[in-house]
Amino acid sequence: GAPISLNDVTRFYRQGGAQVPALVDVTLDVRAGETVAVVGPSGSGKSTLLHVIGGIDRPDSGTVMVGGTRVEQLSRRAAAAFRRGVGFVFQHYHLLPQLSALDNVVVPLMPIQVRFDRHERARELLDAVGLGDRASARVADLSGGEQQRVAIARALVARPKLLLADEPTGALDSRTGDEVLDLLAQVQADYGMTLVLATHEAAVAAQCSRLISLRDGTVVADHALWDPQPDE
Ligand code: ADP
Ligand code: ADP
Repeated sequence: GAPISLNDVTRFYRQGGAQVPALVDVTLDVRAGETVAVVGPSGSGKSTLLHVIGGIDRPDSGTVMVGGTRVEQLSRRAAAAFRRGVGFVFQHYHLLPQLSALDNVVVPLMPIQVRFDRHERARELLDAVGLGDRASARVADLSGGEQQRVAIARALVARPKLLLADEPTGALDSRTGDEVLDLLAQVQADYGMTLVLATHEAAVAAQCSRLISLRDGTVVADHALWDPQPDE
Protein backbone atom coordinates (compact mmCIF):
# COMPACT_ATOMS: atom_id res chain seq x y z
CA GLY A 1 0.00 0.00 0.00
CA ALA A 2 0.91 3.65 -0.42
CA PRO A 3 1.20 5.97 2.58
CA ILE A 4 -0.57 9.33 2.31
CA SER A 5 0.45 12.63 3.89
CA LEU A 6 -1.54 15.85 3.61
CA ASN A 7 -0.24 19.07 5.07
CA ASP A 8 -2.43 22.19 5.43
CA VAL A 9 -4.50 21.35 2.37
CA THR A 10 -7.05 24.00 1.38
CA ARG A 11 -9.37 23.90 -1.65
CA PHE A 12 -11.90 26.57 -2.61
CA TYR A 13 -14.58 26.39 -5.28
CA ARG A 14 -16.09 29.37 -7.02
CA GLN A 15 -19.89 29.29 -6.81
CA GLY A 16 -21.43 32.33 -8.47
CA GLY A 17 -19.45 35.24 -7.04
CA ALA A 18 -18.53 33.46 -3.81
CA GLN A 19 -15.50 31.35 -2.89
CA VAL A 20 -16.78 28.28 -1.06
CA PRO A 21 -14.23 26.35 1.01
CA ALA A 22 -14.38 22.59 0.37
CA LEU A 23 -11.27 21.73 2.43
CA VAL A 24 -9.64 24.01 5.01
CA ASP A 25 -6.15 23.37 6.41
CA VAL A 26 -6.48 19.60 6.37
CA THR A 27 -3.43 17.83 7.79
CA LEU A 28 -3.44 14.05 8.08
CA ASP A 29 -1.28 10.97 7.64
CA VAL A 30 -2.44 7.55 6.51
CA ARG A 31 -0.14 4.57 6.87
CA ALA A 32 0.39 2.02 4.11
CA GLY A 33 -2.33 -0.63 4.27
CA GLU A 34 -4.78 1.32 6.39
CA THR A 35 -8.52 1.22 5.67
CA VAL A 36 -9.84 4.70 6.31
CA ALA A 37 -13.46 5.79 6.31
CA VAL A 38 -14.03 9.48 5.64
CA VAL A 39 -17.41 10.44 7.09
CA GLY A 40 -19.39 13.65 7.37
CA PRO A 41 -22.58 15.28 6.11
CA SER A 42 -23.18 16.07 2.45
CA GLY A 43 -20.97 18.98 1.40
CA SER A 44 -18.41 18.44 4.18
CA GLY A 45 -15.58 17.84 1.68
CA LYS A 46 -15.36 14.02 1.44
CA SER A 47 -15.30 13.86 -2.36
CA THR A 48 -12.91 16.79 -2.59
CA LEU A 49 -10.54 15.05 -0.17
CA LEU A 50 -10.53 11.90 -2.30
CA HIS A 51 -10.08 13.92 -5.48
CA VAL A 52 -7.11 15.80 -4.01
CA ILE A 53 -5.46 12.56 -2.83
CA GLY A 54 -6.07 10.89 -6.19
CA GLY A 55 -4.73 13.74 -8.32
CA ILE A 56 -8.15 14.52 -9.84
CA ASP A 57 -8.29 17.91 -8.17
CA ARG A 58 -5.47 20.27 -7.18
CA PRO A 59 -5.56 22.09 -3.83
CA ASP A 60 -5.18 25.88 -3.71
CA SER A 61 -2.53 25.47 -1.03
CA GLY A 62 -0.85 22.79 1.02
CA THR A 63 1.02 19.62 0.08
CA VAL A 64 -0.24 16.16 -0.88
CA MET A 65 2.20 13.25 -0.73
CA VAL A 66 1.12 9.78 -1.89
CA GLY A 67 3.66 6.95 -1.86
CA GLY A 68 6.56 9.35 -2.34
CA THR A 69 4.89 11.47 -5.04
CA ARG A 70 4.16 15.17 -4.48
CA VAL A 71 0.76 14.95 -6.14
CA GLU A 72 -0.14 18.66 -6.12
CA GLN A 73 3.05 19.54 -7.99
CA LEU A 74 2.51 17.19 -10.90
CA SER A 75 2.09 18.52 -14.42
CA ARG A 76 -1.14 17.67 -16.19
CA ARG A 77 0.61 14.84 -18.00
CA ALA A 78 2.34 13.49 -14.89
CA ALA A 79 -0.94 13.70 -12.97
CA ALA A 80 -2.63 11.54 -15.61
CA ALA A 81 0.13 8.94 -15.23
CA PHE A 82 -0.18 9.12 -11.43
CA ARG A 83 -3.96 8.55 -11.62
CA ARG A 84 -3.40 5.38 -13.65
CA GLY A 85 -1.71 3.97 -10.54
CA VAL A 86 -4.71 4.74 -8.32
CA GLY A 87 -7.92 2.70 -8.26
CA PHE A 88 -11.15 4.73 -8.19
CA VAL A 89 -14.61 3.43 -7.32
CA PHE A 90 -17.57 5.84 -7.57
CA GLN A 91 -21.13 5.79 -6.32
CA HIS A 92 -22.53 5.61 -9.85
CA TYR A 93 -19.93 3.17 -11.24
CA HIS A 94 -18.92 5.34 -14.24
CA LEU A 95 -18.69 2.28 -16.51
CA LEU A 96 -19.16 2.18 -20.28
CA PRO A 97 -22.65 0.63 -20.37
CA GLN A 98 -22.61 -0.58 -23.99
CA LEU A 99 -19.39 -2.55 -23.54
CA SER A 100 -19.03 -5.98 -21.94
CA ALA A 101 -17.92 -6.39 -18.34
CA LEU A 102 -14.59 -7.74 -19.60
CA ASP A 103 -13.97 -4.81 -21.95
CA ASN A 104 -14.70 -2.34 -19.14
CA VAL A 105 -12.11 -4.01 -16.92
CA VAL A 106 -9.51 -4.00 -19.72
CA VAL A 107 -9.87 -0.23 -20.35
CA PRO A 108 -7.33 0.99 -17.73
CA LEU A 109 -4.69 -1.36 -19.18
CA MET A 110 -4.98 -0.07 -22.75
CA PRO A 111 -2.77 3.02 -22.44
CA ILE A 112 0.02 1.28 -20.54
CA GLN A 113 2.72 -1.15 -21.60
CA VAL A 114 2.27 -4.53 -19.94
CA ARG A 115 4.17 -7.81 -20.05
CA PHE A 116 1.09 -9.92 -19.45
CA ASP A 117 -2.07 -10.65 -21.45
CA ARG A 118 -4.55 -7.83 -20.76
CA HIS A 119 -7.69 -9.89 -21.28
CA GLU A 120 -6.36 -12.72 -19.15
CA ARG A 121 -5.65 -10.25 -16.32
CA ALA A 122 -9.13 -8.73 -16.70
CA ARG A 123 -10.68 -12.19 -16.52
CA GLU A 124 -8.72 -12.91 -13.32
CA LEU A 125 -10.14 -9.76 -11.74
CA LEU A 126 -13.70 -10.60 -12.80
CA ASP A 127 -13.19 -14.02 -11.19
CA ALA A 128 -11.91 -12.30 -8.04
CA VAL A 129 -15.09 -10.22 -7.75
CA GLY A 130 -17.30 -13.25 -8.45
CA LEU A 131 -18.32 -12.27 -11.98
CA GLY A 132 -16.26 -14.73 -14.00
CA ASP A 133 -19.41 -16.10 -15.61
CA ARG A 134 -20.68 -12.64 -16.65
CA ALA A 135 -17.54 -11.50 -18.49
CA SER A 136 -19.24 -11.16 -21.87
CA ALA A 137 -22.47 -9.60 -20.56
CA ARG A 138 -23.15 -5.99 -21.50
CA VAL A 139 -22.77 -3.77 -18.45
CA ALA A 140 -26.18 -2.20 -19.15
CA ASP A 141 -27.73 -5.65 -18.62
CA LEU A 142 -26.14 -6.15 -15.18
CA SER A 143 -27.69 -5.32 -11.79
CA GLY A 144 -26.36 -2.41 -9.72
CA GLY A 145 -24.42 -4.73 -7.43
CA GLU A 146 -22.88 -6.51 -10.41
CA GLN A 147 -21.97 -3.18 -11.99
CA GLN A 148 -20.20 -2.07 -8.84
CA ARG A 149 -18.28 -5.38 -8.84
CA VAL A 150 -17.19 -4.67 -12.41
CA ALA A 151 -16.11 -1.19 -11.29
CA ILE A 152 -14.07 -2.72 -8.45
CA ALA A 153 -12.43 -5.18 -10.86
CA ARG A 154 -11.61 -2.25 -13.15
CA ALA A 155 -10.17 -0.26 -10.25
CA LEU A 156 -7.88 -3.15 -9.32
CA VAL A 157 -6.76 -4.38 -12.72
CA ALA A 158 -3.61 -2.23 -12.82
CA ARG A 159 -2.69 -3.38 -9.27
CA PRO A 160 -2.89 0.02 -7.59
CA LYS A 161 -1.24 0.68 -4.24
CA LEU A 162 -4.12 2.99 -3.37
CA LEU A 163 -7.86 2.50 -3.76
CA LEU A 164 -10.22 5.47 -3.40
CA ALA A 165 -13.93 4.70 -3.08
CA ASP A 166 -16.51 7.50 -3.04
CA GLU A 167 -19.82 6.30 -1.55
CA PRO A 168 -19.31 2.87 -3.15
CA THR A 169 -22.51 1.47 -1.61
CA GLY A 170 -24.57 4.65 -1.91
CA ALA A 171 -26.62 3.49 -4.90
CA LEU A 172 -27.20 -0.05 -3.63
CA ASP A 173 -29.78 -1.61 -1.34
CA SER A 174 -28.33 -2.50 2.05
CA ARG A 175 -27.83 -6.22 1.41
CA THR A 176 -26.09 -5.66 -1.93
CA GLY A 177 -24.13 -2.83 -0.33
CA ASP A 178 -22.93 -5.18 2.41
CA GLU A 179 -21.77 -7.67 -0.21
CA VAL A 180 -19.85 -4.97 -2.09
CA LEU A 181 -18.31 -3.82 1.17
CA ASP A 182 -17.25 -7.37 2.08
CA LEU A 183 -15.68 -7.61 -1.35
CA LEU A 184 -13.77 -4.36 -0.87
CA ALA A 185 -12.50 -5.56 2.53
CA GLN A 186 -11.46 -8.87 1.00
CA VAL A 187 -9.58 -7.39 -1.96
CA GLN A 188 -7.99 -4.83 0.34
CA ALA A 189 -6.64 -7.68 2.45
CA ASP A 190 -5.64 -9.81 -0.56
CA TYR A 191 -3.85 -7.07 -2.47
CA GLY A 192 -2.58 -5.08 0.55
CA MET A 193 -3.70 -1.67 -0.69
CA THR A 194 -4.31 1.47 1.23
CA LEU A 195 -8.08 2.06 1.07
CA VAL A 196 -9.76 5.43 1.61
CA LEU A 197 -13.52 5.28 1.48
CA ALA A 198 -15.99 8.17 1.70
CA THR A 199 -19.35 7.28 3.17
CA HIS A 200 -22.22 8.69 5.18
CA GLU A 201 -23.31 5.22 6.29
CA ALA A 202 -22.27 4.31 9.83
CA ALA A 203 -22.34 0.57 9.09
CA VAL A 204 -19.84 1.05 6.27
CA ALA A 205 -17.55 3.20 8.40
CA ALA A 206 -17.62 0.65 11.24
CA GLN A 207 -15.82 -1.88 9.04
CA CYS A 208 -12.81 0.40 8.52
CA SER A 209 -9.69 0.53 10.71
CA ARG A 210 -9.91 4.28 11.10
CA LEU A 211 -12.57 6.96 11.03
CA ILE A 212 -11.91 10.52 9.92
CA SER A 213 -14.85 12.91 10.34
CA LEU A 214 -15.14 16.05 8.24
CA ARG A 215 -17.36 19.04 8.83
CA ASP A 216 -17.29 22.14 6.65
CA GLY A 217 -14.00 21.00 5.14
CA THR A 218 -12.11 20.43 8.37
CA VAL A 219 -11.19 17.28 10.28
CA VAL A 220 -13.27 17.30 13.48
CA ALA A 221 -12.43 13.76 14.66
CA ASP A 222 -9.90 11.06 13.82
CA HIS A 223 -10.12 7.67 15.58
CA ALA A 224 -8.41 4.34 15.15
CA LEU A 225 -11.02 1.56 15.31
CA TRP A 226 -8.64 -1.38 15.11
CA ASP A 227 -5.00 -1.97 14.30
CA PRO A 228 -4.46 -2.76 10.62
CA GLN A 229 -1.61 -4.91 9.33
CA PRO A 230 0.39 -2.59 7.07
CA ASP A 231 1.95 -4.52 4.21
CA GLU A 232 5.15 -2.50 3.99
P1 ADP B 1 -19.10 15.75 0.15
O1 ADP B 1 -18.39 14.75 -0.71
O2 ADP B 1 -18.82 15.59 1.61
O3 ADP B 1 -20.56 15.81 -0.14
P2 ADP B 1 -17.84 17.72 -1.55
O4 ADP B 1 -16.37 17.54 -1.45
O5 ADP B 1 -18.54 17.17 -2.75
O6 ADP B 1 -18.50 17.19 -0.20
O7 ADP B 1 -18.16 19.27 -1.48
C1 ADP B 1 -17.59 20.16 -0.52
C2 ADP B 1 -18.05 21.58 -0.83
O8 ADP B 1 -17.46 21.98 -2.07
C3 ADP B 1 -19.55 21.74 -1.02
O9 ADP B 1 -19.89 23.02 -0.56
C4 ADP B 1 -19.73 21.62 -2.53
O10 ADP B 1 -20.87 22.31 -2.96
C5 ADP B 1 -18.46 22.29 -3.02
N1 ADP B 1 -18.02 21.74 -4.32
C6 ADP B 1 -17.53 20.48 -4.55
N2 ADP B 1 -17.19 20.34 -5.84
C7 ADP B 1 -17.46 21.51 -6.45
C8 ADP B 1 -17.32 22.01 -7.78
N3 ADP B 1 -16.84 21.24 -8.74
N4 ADP B 1 -17.71 23.28 -8.02
C9 ADP B 1 -18.19 24.05 -7.04
N5 ADP B 1 -18.33 23.67 -5.77
C10 ADP B 1 -17.99 22.42 -5.47
P1 ADP C 1 -21.71 11.41 -6.71
O1 ADP C 1 -22.89 11.21 -5.83
O2 ADP C 1 -21.74 10.56 -7.94
O3 ADP C 1 -20.39 11.42 -6.00
P2 ADP C 1 -21.98 14.23 -6.45
O4 ADP C 1 -23.35 14.77 -6.66
O5 ADP C 1 -21.47 14.08 -5.06
O6 ADP C 1 -21.90 12.87 -7.28
O7 ADP C 1 -20.92 15.14 -7.23
C1 ADP C 1 -20.72 15.00 -8.61
C2 ADP C 1 -19.60 15.94 -9.02
O8 ADP C 1 -20.06 17.30 -8.91
C3 ADP C 1 -18.37 15.82 -8.14
O9 ADP C 1 -17.21 15.77 -8.96
C4 ADP C 1 -18.37 17.07 -7.28
O10 ADP C 1 -17.04 17.53 -7.05
C5 ADP C 1 -19.12 18.06 -8.14
N1 ADP C 1 -19.89 19.02 -7.32
C6 ADP C 1 -20.35 18.84 -6.06
N2 ADP C 1 -20.96 19.95 -5.61
C7 ADP C 1 -20.90 20.84 -6.65
C8 ADP C 1 -21.37 22.17 -6.82
N3 ADP C 1 -22.00 22.84 -5.85
N4 ADP C 1 -21.16 22.78 -8.00
C9 ADP C 1 -20.52 22.13 -8.98
N5 ADP C 1 -20.05 20.87 -8.87
C10 ADP C 1 -20.24 20.24 -7.73
